[in-house]
Amino acid sequence: MARPCGHQPTCPPAGAIDHDAARVIAAFPEQGWSLLCNGVVVFDDGGELSPDNKALPAQRGPAPHTLTAVTA
Ligand SMILES: [Zn+2]
Repeated sequence: MARPCGHQPTCPPAGAIDHDAARVIAAFPEQGWSLLCNGVVVFDDGGELSPDNKALPAQRGPAPHTLTAVTA
């Protein structure tokens, strides 16, 4: 249930890789979550909930790629 975005530049959609860049339209710090313009709910622990109620993994922690040793 996407609401129209009136921001400039337009907020990224919920499915975009940069969906976190959407504006916060409602914040509930006492409850530990915020609602973004694109309908994504962001929790203080880094977890997210997409508008279609799919949980998105927290984006904190180690990067998913493997670091390779740099020999100089
Ligand atoms: Zn917006």
